[in-house]
Amino acid sequence: MNRLICNETGEAFALDDPRWCSEKGKLLTLEFQPHLDISRLSQRKSTLWRYREAIPIDYDENIVSFDEGFTPLLPMRISGRTIYIKQDHLFPTGSFKDRGATILISKVKELGIRHVVQDSSGNAGAAIAAYCARAGIACDIYVPEKTLPEKLRQIRSYNATLHLVPGSREDTASAALAAAGKYYYASHCWNPFFHHGVKTFAYEVCEQLGWCAPDAVILPVGNGSLLIGVFIGFKELLAMQIIEKMPRMIAIQALACAPVYLAFARGKSNHAVHGETIAEGIAIAQPVRIKEMLAAITESNGTVMTVDDDAIKRTQIEMAKKGFYIEVTAAAAMAGVESYLEQSEREELIVTSFTGHGLKSGK
Ligand SMILES: *Cc1c(COP(=O)(O)O)cnc(C)c1O
Repeated sequence: MNRLICNETGEAFALDDPRWCSEKGKLLTLEFQPHLDISRLSQRKSTLWRYREAIPIDYDENIVSFDEGFTPLLPMRISGRTIYIKQDHLFPTGSFKDRGATILISKVKELGIRHVVQDSSGNAGAAIAAYCARAGIACDIYVPEKTLPEKLRQIRSYNATLHLVPGSREDTASAALAAAGKYYYASHCWNPFFHHGVKTFAYEVCEQLGWCAPDAVILPVGNGSLLIGVFIGFKELLAMQIIEKMPRMIAIQALACAPVYLAFARGKSNHAVHGETIAEGIAIAQPVRIKEMLAAITESNGTVMTVDDDAIKRTQIEMAKKGFYIEVTAAAAMAGVESYLEQSEREELIVTSFTGHGLKSGK
């Protein structure tokens, strides 16, 4: 049965219940039975909505979309090996967050909600604002005061109400949470519908590899919406027996702000780490879904690695010299790929992602 489940008490809620947390304010997981008939896909548009029966939206009329997704999976030579890069910087708002936003805002429309709140370091805010604009839904976006001007301009242009919050990324999250008492919280961290959009990454990658799962997926990790969503996607494909193995999830964090890395190394999940890094998209001191991230990494036999700001900057410049203009946070993942390849001799099919476009990076 499709329903929302409280992560702590197991309490269940119906999917037409407009809630993003449990009665007691705990995280929810979406329990959903996907369907996929791969023989029908050839007649469908090359967008992420081609996996329609695997997406938890009831009626097509509620779909809020720009025909996004099915981004190119490009082979690239790095350190003498070939890896595959999912070019998710080519989404309409310039980051993979559109995967989550198209499903989440479709759900918002389905629920008849007219006003949402969201908080982000920039990209998730831009994605939610754009899809709200497309659907004619009002939105309030909370961002840290020091967010890049390019990202602020983008969010404002979509006609969102922008709130600049002084202090840390956590202060911004608290401000949005307070507003979420009044309006529906379209959060990429809290709202489980977001993950069920991001999971299309896994579906696309497997289809593009001829319905074969990669051996390892290397992803940048802050709040974990990408990691958790991708893991859900592979788990569903495995359960439907469309693929035969779970790829190893390799999470990349910035050295200065690496709570997931520390928790993984120490076997505990209660570390808040407030370091500064240029990779602002993954500078999350205390990710709310850290337990789920650790479970995805452990269950997939994966690992967590860190990269320092020098390596991130150097990699961003190297990528641009090869013709790829990606944002700093996306370069963190590529720096992670390089250090993974240095350490691992395995003959593996590795997939990674350009998570965000350089055009709004500002540096
Ligand atoms: C949001 C974001 C990430 C990290 O995603 P999380 O869900 O926070 O783990 C990585 N790269 C870019 C460009 C992002 O915008």
